Amino acid sequence: MNALEYVPVPAFEDNYIWLVSDGRHAVAVDPGEAAPVRAYLAKRGWQLSAILLTHHHQDHVGGVADLLNGQDVPVYGPAGESIERLTYRLKSGDRVSLVEPALEFRVLDVPGHTSGHIAYFQAADPAGTPHVFCGDTLFACGCGRLFEGTSAQMLKSLDELAALPGDTQVHCAHEYTLSNIRFALAAEPDNLALQAWRDKATALRERGVPTLPTTIGHEKAVNPFLRADQPAIQTTLAEQLHESVLDRLTAFTLLREWKNRFR
Ligand SMILES: [Zn+2]
Repeated sequence: MNALEYVPVPAFEDNYIWLVSDGRHAVAVDPGEAAPVRAYLAKRGWQLSAILLTHHHQDHVGGVADLLNGQDVPVYGPAGESIERLTYRLKSGDRVSLVEPALEFRVLDVPGHTSGHIAYFQAADPAGTPHVFCGDTLFACGCGRLFEGTSAQMLKSLDELAALPGDTQVHCAHEYTLSNIRFALAAEPDNLALQAWRDKATALRERGVPTLPTTIGHEKAVNPFLRADQPAIQTTLAEQLHESVLDRLTAFTLLREWKNRFR
């Protein structure tokens, strides 16, 4: 099998539209805009063969109609959300099998950011590495805002992602890493892995390089939203917010609310 290439195409202010290609055909994940995708495909001589959508937000689906214009390309998306132009409606446990490029995904239900949000898990690329496309659920050092779901739903969704193999490459849909790291350091200032990641991510952004993909193993070490059970984080929450933290869900909920107003 040919190697696969995973490319983050920048869109809008800070979105990434991920393309996966075998060197001839490409799949686009969450194309909120058509123009940058079309330009990148043309530059590489790749042909669009499928579109995968994680949730209904405009910055993830807005380019679909334009990309489909005159082309017979299947569109995969969540069964639980109202999205136009879907060819296949997916829910947890469904499989997506693509031929060109050759890709197999298992669908995960990951509600919280939106109520029907799904993620696409590829157990192994030709080199044996796993990948997940998680939209606006899990970010590098952060997680999505709770627009439609509860914090209990989001915590369960993040637990499901955290249970994937540690070397899973995590393809998030936004470059939020530096601002997320600032918050993560407020929540857990003594985390050495997090301090090292701040330095590395800062250097990457200074050169204009994406900080993604991240990995599940890395996120478990640095992402406060995957570390709500850590005593250091719970102590910070108690000190900063003067709230008593009784359990992991309380800690997660307080973290998410704090992040919403964190500047
Ligand atoms: Zn979104």
